Amino acid sequence: MMHPHTIKAAVFDIDGTLAMMDKETGTYTALPGAAEALAACKARGIPAVAYTNGTFFPPAHYYPLLADAGLVLEPGHILTPAAVAARALAAMGYTRIMVMGAEGTTVPVQDAGIEVIAPSKTAPRVDAVLLGWCKDFNAEQVEAVVQAVWGGARPFAGSVAPYFAGAGGKRLLGISGAIAAALTNATGVPVTVFGKPEAAGLEIVTAITGARPHEMMIVGDDPKLEIRMGRRAGALCVGVTTGVVDDAGFQAFPEDERAQIVLPSLVGFADQAFLRGQDGW
Ligand SMILES: [Mg+2]
Repeated sequence: MMHPHTIKAAVFDIDGTLAMMDKETGTYTALPGAAEALAACKARGIPAVAYTNGTFFPPAHYYPLLADAGLVLEPGHILTPAAVAARALAAMGYTRIMVMGAEGTTVPVQDAGIEVIAPSKTAPRVDAVLLGWCKDFNAEQVEAVVQAVWGGARPFAGSVAPYFAGAGGKRLLGISGAIAAALTNATGVPVTVFGKPEAAGLEIVTAITGARPHEMMIVGDDPKLEIRMGRRAGALCVGVTTGVVDDAGFQAFPEDERAQIVLPSLVGFADQAFLRGQDGW
């Protein structure tokens, strides 16, 4: 018996799992079997949530991008670490934070009712800073974030993953992880992370679907992100080798931290026993 619970929600990673992004064109291409996997969940009444570790865009921007690639998610069923962070920071009582990030980070923070302060020399005092993906940043902004933390602000990030899977098998740099490393290098203060492999996102999945973490199936290409998050939470973890690692990369972890199932792609996902609802899954 590999997983004793009926699956009541499926949480799919996006980059390297459902789709690949082409950074030149800003478009997604679905990976083989991805659309069929979402359809199989729907047909079985299993809500599917797409939880990316990227914060290029606010969640709302992902729906049409993925739909253009043939991947249709229900409203409210796409999560980003920035959205998870915004919700958690609002719950922690922050009303004004410095955000170093593009609109993928600033929009969810504003939507959570928190005032966003841009990092600059003239920025007012803040109690927290949040790092997200950004493309065009400069030394003044990095220094403003460092100064805020020297001044006592707590540092947070959506993700500190070093890289993620891009089109053509290319690794793409995790910008917020790079800035977090610079921040900790300067201040000695560790950055608190909300994205994967932390489990904060699964609390939102529970709020959306009613499924508890051990009733979820987590599908992802990164053993250090999706699989680590899922195993800690007691979920059924399915690794796919269409992203950052091959089968050996998944098997390189101790048994209790490893994906219970590793698939070469999402082709045939619909035929897997865990979706057919057999006893013992
Ligand atoms: Mg991925």
